[in-house]
Amino acid sequence: MADDCIFCQIVKGEAEASFVHQDDTVVAFMDIQPITHGHMLVVPREHAVLMHDVNETVSMRAFKVARQLAELARQTLGASGVNLFVADGEVAFQDVPHFHVHVIPRYPNDGFGLTFPREYTEPRTRAELDTIASAIRGASG
Ligand SMILES: [Zn+2]
Repeated sequence: MADDCIFCQIVKGEAEASFVHQDDTVVAFMDIQPITHGHMLVVPREHAVLMHDVNETVSMRAFKVARQLAELARQTLGASGVNLFVADGEVAFQDVPHFHVHVIPRYPNDGFGLTFPREYTEPRTRAELDTIASAIRGASG
């Protein structure tokens, strides 16, 4: 637990939240600053900053609950799509330093989008992709 962490405060009941799910490992609640209607956050009870800081059981539970909430958003909010999003690290737009999975229901013309770098439109060469793949394979244990 980190005393100044808003998610830890919510988990401990010291800060308000509108819960949609609670179990022994994770909780889920409405984002106070929703990107779209019904934007939810799935948060492990234990404090950990990054995705690799939680064990596989905890991270898999978070994604399992996110998957369930995505389906519920379709059924109850009329969402026609859902984005699951993890901001893992400050450079990846992590706003609260406590690992969480965003469940972002999507609606036609909801205003949410992604910005890609200019070179995105240019497919990479097989050699470049093979080099990167090899580096990643070589590092995985
Ligand atoms: Zn925390």
